[in-house]
Amino acid sequence: MKETADVVVIGAGIMGLSIAYQLARRSRLNIVVLEKDERVAAGSTGASSSILRHRYSFDEMVQLARDGITSYREWSRFTRLARPRAEFRHAGVLWMLGEDTAWADKEQHRLAELEVETSVLDDTALRQRFPSLNACVIAPDVVAGKAHLCRGGGRHLLEIDGGYIDPVAAVEDLLEACQRESVAVRFGVTVAKVLTDDEKVTGIATADGVELPAPWVINAAGPWCNRILAQLDVPFPWTLTPTRIQVLYVDRPHDVQLPVPVCLDMVGGIYFRPQNRGAQIVLGSTLIDDEREVVENPDNFQRKPDTDFETARLHALHHRFPTWPYRGKVRGYCGMYTVNQEDFHPLVGATALPGFIVAIGFSGHGFKLAPAIGSLIAQLLTGGSLGDDTRVPPGFLSVDRTPLTLATKSVLA
Ligand SMILES: Cc1cc2nc3c(=O)[nH]c(=O)nc-3n(C[C@H](O)[C@H](O)[C@H](O)COP(=O)(O)OP(=O)(O)OC[C@H]3O[C@@H](n4cnc5c(N)ncnc54)[C@H](O)[C@@H]3O)c2cc1C
Repeated sequence: MKETADVVVIGAGIMGLSIAYQLARRSRLNIVVLEKDERVAAGSTGASSSILRHRYSFDEMVQLARDGITSYREWSRFTRLARPRAEFRHAGVLWMLGEDTAWADKEQHRLAELEVETSVLDDTALRQRFPSLNACVIAPDVVAGKAHLCRGGGRHLLEIDGGYIDPVAAVEDLLEACQRESVAVRFGVTVAKVLTDDEKVTGIATADGVELPAPWVINAAGPWCNRILAQLDVPFPWTLTPTRIQVLYVDRPHDVQLPVPVCLDMVGGIYFRPQNRGAQIVLGSTLIDDEREVVENPDNFQRKPDTDFETARLHALHHRFPTWPYRGKVRGYCGMYTVNQEDFHPLVGATALPGFIVAIGFSGHGFKLAPAIGSLIAQLLTGGSLGDDTRVPPGFLSVDRTPLTLATKSVLA
């Protein structure tokens, strides 16, 4: 007898497996996840810095981030794994805005209304909490590294319950949880085509020509999502571009004291977070200019970071930690994520083709949001809800929305 499924999910990244798991937690649907690679997290997810921060411009995004991060904080409860591989690292997320001294207090008030706990730190409080961190509000010269006289006086926002988690370990946990719930996850299977009749989705065909009938197909193919969209005759008025993103790893010098928070340093245009229990720092950019390099072919792009990227980010890191050398051996890599050029926010939910669902265009936001996005889609497909489901209205990220209006289109949207 020919195999059938109720739901086919394309892609075993954090999104595909979160969706599959959220569906399986509340239904007896026959769910099949198809992954073209031989392992989980082969796309954006494996390269993710996996920073779990709450603050976004839109309240709905704060809620989705909060709900996603709650799942990561309670990972063993959420996955129902007694000993999960991944563990939430409760480092706090520090926003350093520089000379804007009004922002932190305003955001603290807004986030409190959304049940996100924060502290506002002045220079003294910052030094007590993170002794090695320079509180300077003046932008560093990241090109030549010319020194300036540092000046404090800023007000910095600390998200108490922010942090990070190992992205690959988290996805491996989700794979185990999905398999326990009888989700079939198949590796080395490329979806070549979404099958339709005149009105709706009828299943998928693989690159090997195998057909799998199903009334629901979910595109969670990350930077490859356009290949799935391109072969369908569905109106899709959004431009999604796979984009090359550079990340560095640097060893922490012994005289830089722990703790080091997750930090979004708007003054130096960098973000960083601890890694390997603080032995290293993961270092990246918050600048829009570093999110412009379109990847034409997601199967083949430059994985090595650029020298000028390394130099500029190391100068900015040196500014925050003055004893941190701005020269020396640096490791790094490039991943890619899918930028929605219209409004930098993802597209989640039903399309004009009945049965065809998308969860794509996540930019640098997708990791933290994934459990909540899985919840949105599972509620949509099953009509059922669980106590820990997100309550954000599904229309907020829908394909037929009007693009959101943003002050700045960047990863910090
Ligand atoms: C460098 C970097 C840093 C980031 N930092 C953060 C951060 O700090 N915080 C945060 O929240 N987010 C961050 N992100 C974003 C986040 O990682 C992504 O939004 C998220 O991982 C997207 O997950 P996904 O499952 O949608 O995509 P992917 O992980 O790309 O998964 C898609 C999967 O689909 C598979 N696939 C594609 N086409 C097919 C097909 N036709 N058939 C079968 N399988 C297919 C691919 O092989 C892949 O495994 C970062 C991303 C990068 C690259």
